[in-house]
Amino acid sequence: MDPKSPQKRIRSYLAYVRDVFGAELLVNREKKMTELDLYRKSIEQCTKCALSQTRKHFVFGDGSPDADILFVGEAPGAVEDETGIPFVGRAGKLLDKALHHIGLDRDSIFITNVLKCRPPGNRDPLPDEIALCEPYLHRQIELLNPRVIVALGRIAARTLLRLPSDTSLTSMRKQSFEYHGVPLCVFYHPAAILRNAGREGEYFQDFEKLKETYLKD
Ligand code: SF4
Repeated sequence: MDPKSPQKRIRSYLAYVRDVFGAELLVNREKKMTELDLYRKSIEQCTKCALSQTRKHFVFGDGSPDADILFVGEAPGAVEDETGIPFVGRAGKLLDKALHHIGLDRDSIFITNVLKCRPPGNRDPLPDEIALCEPYLHRQIELLNPRVIVALGRIAARTLLRLPSDTSLTSMRKQSFEYHGVPLCVFYHPAAILRNAGREGEYFQDFEKLKETYLKD
């Protein structure tokens, strides 16, 4: 098994939790992980939209089932489609860099996308694809029960907040939102920063603010 595979990382994480916090806490975490895993298995053969015919892998999500912070992106790209793991291409590397900047890593967060299958050519998700796929995201959020949600980019933000399709990311980024009582922040998608490096400072500032606001204790 690949030493960096999600299963291997989860097993290492559980061993760490058992050592540090004891078995009782671990029971709750294992239960949560099992629920997530069962849910993934129940939807990973989905054929509700045409993207099922062109995908190589269904991309459920990755990270800790006990994460305080849930990041939600738009859809898998080419590398994610190849591997079945979200945010592992160039945009994912930039996300990792920002996480490390505030003392986090992939094992301390959970990350997923609005769509679980790649739109060909990385085009924007179509409204009917989002409508068919978003119930999976809402159920993931219910199971993960995060302390804060970060929407990466306009598609994730508009979907989670049910905002009109012309709502700009710039305006959303400056506001505070809630998703069913859970604080929700809107950040640039890291792929947008790769296209416009001039915004990298603002991108890192958003992560610093996230740390100041939600990671004090
Ligand atoms: S994108 Fe979502 S709705 Fe479409 S096939 Fe994949 S999992 Fe199903």
